[in-house]
Amino acid sequence: MNVHQPNDLSAFWMPFTANRQFKSAPRMFVSAEGMHYRTQDGREVLDGTAGLWCCNAGHKRPKIVEAVQSQVAELDYAPAFQMGHPKAFELANRLIQMAPEHMGHVFYTNSGSESVETALKIALAYHRARGEGQRTRLIGRERGYHGVNFGGISVGGIVNNRRTFGTLPGVDHLPHTHLKENGFSRGQPEHGAHLADELERICALHGPETIAAVIVEPMAGSTGVLLPPKGYLERLREITSKHGILLIFDEVITGFGRLGASFAAEYFGVKPDLMVTAKGLTNGVIPMGAVFTTPEIHDAFMHGPEHLIELFHGYTYSGNPIAAAAGLATLETYREEGLFERAAELAPYWEDMLHGLRDLPHVIDIRNMGLIGAIELEPIEGAPTQRAFQAFLRAFDEGLLIRTTGDIIAMSPPLIIEKSHIDRIGEVLRGVLRDLD
Ligand code: PMP
Repeated sequence: MNVHQPNDLSAFWMPFTANRQFKSAPRMFVSAEGMHYRTQDGREVLDGTAGLWCCNAGHKRPKIVEAVQSQVAELDYAPAFQMGHPKAFELANRLIQMAPEHMGHVFYTNSGSESVETALKIALAYHRARGEGQRTRLIGRERGYHGVNFGGISVGGIVNNRRTFGTLPGVDHLPHTHLKENGFSRGQPEHGAHLADELERICALHGPETIAAVIVEPMAGSTGVLLPPKGYLERLREITSKHGILLIFDEVITGFGRLGASFAAEYFGVKPDLMVTAKGLTNGVIPMGAVFTTPEIHDAFMHGPEHLIELFHGYTYSGNPIAAAAGLATLETYREEGLFERAAELAPYWEDMLHGLRDLPHVIDIRNMGLIGAIELEPIEGAPTQRAFQAFLRAFDEGLLIRTTGDIIAMSPPLIIEKSHIDRIGEVLRGVLRDLD
């Protein structure tokens, strides 16, 4: 079918979208500023999700706008291989300064998915570089989300992302950490550290010397804000270290202040070998991701002849000048405005608002940490996801953007949020949830 009108909606096959539903009643944003989006029909929508967990400094931030504009006018693109430009190096230094102390290097990508693939490949290549090429197995976790490329869907634990495409061989999964007895926990739940011991079982099954890496989100975002039980991440670190297995934290959501610290690794005081990031790195303005590694991992590649490429991996847009400029301006905005500290300060107020919704119909769990939160609804029998989707549509009509995953409402507002916005989110949700079918 030919598309004739510029405003025809049929040509664009939208990602992770119920295309037919959307196109019968489209929700379009045309501008954004601070905490709000503006729709095509002129309504203001409060951004309860920082876009897709990425606009941590809010929208249309002057420093970032200016940095992007002047960079594109000065150096629009530089070849990414065997060439460089100063801002990519400056940004790497800034990232390492703000990262947990044991991190030493960053490798640039363009998205969370690419960061995941990059981290997995670095892990495999690292073991080979050290003469342990038999370490090829990768371990993920049920209900983990690590993007949509083949490595990511393989280590990920979301059935719908896996079953229609197939997955890589040699991957096992730890059990998810979402236990019923932790219902309505405020912050980190008490029960479940023992679930990390499943890694010992997998090690015993295959031989730990065959396992390259374990990848987990320190806090699983996309599957509904699943928090790590107290002691769980520490236990994973202990077991991986004991067996020479690399531990990868996927911090695509938790990185850049979401929990009220630069990274979840810092928040939980657990040291992964690699950290996967994207989203908040550029405030969502320009696609960019970064994988952080320890000096030990990086240095394992640096022993061959100097003129040879050490790691056969990279993207045309790795360290792109405009993305690097956006990244620098974003980090500057976070620092100048003390946004990570602000997230930590507001976290208790956010927590109280969320848990104040406990008495509403169909609410079966509420979870929170930093400026992230989830409300789990009882599914309608025979129509899973429908109740939460109804909540999403009604909240949107009331001028609030939330996200749903299955029957879970997830929220992650920009860190510039004011208490009055939190009150407003509570008010809209109360109205919406009270009237759900
Ligand atoms: N990892 C995690 C933990 C994520 O939350 C996401 C995106 N929500 C990704 C990876 C993939 O990122 P992207 O969509 O930028 O590829």
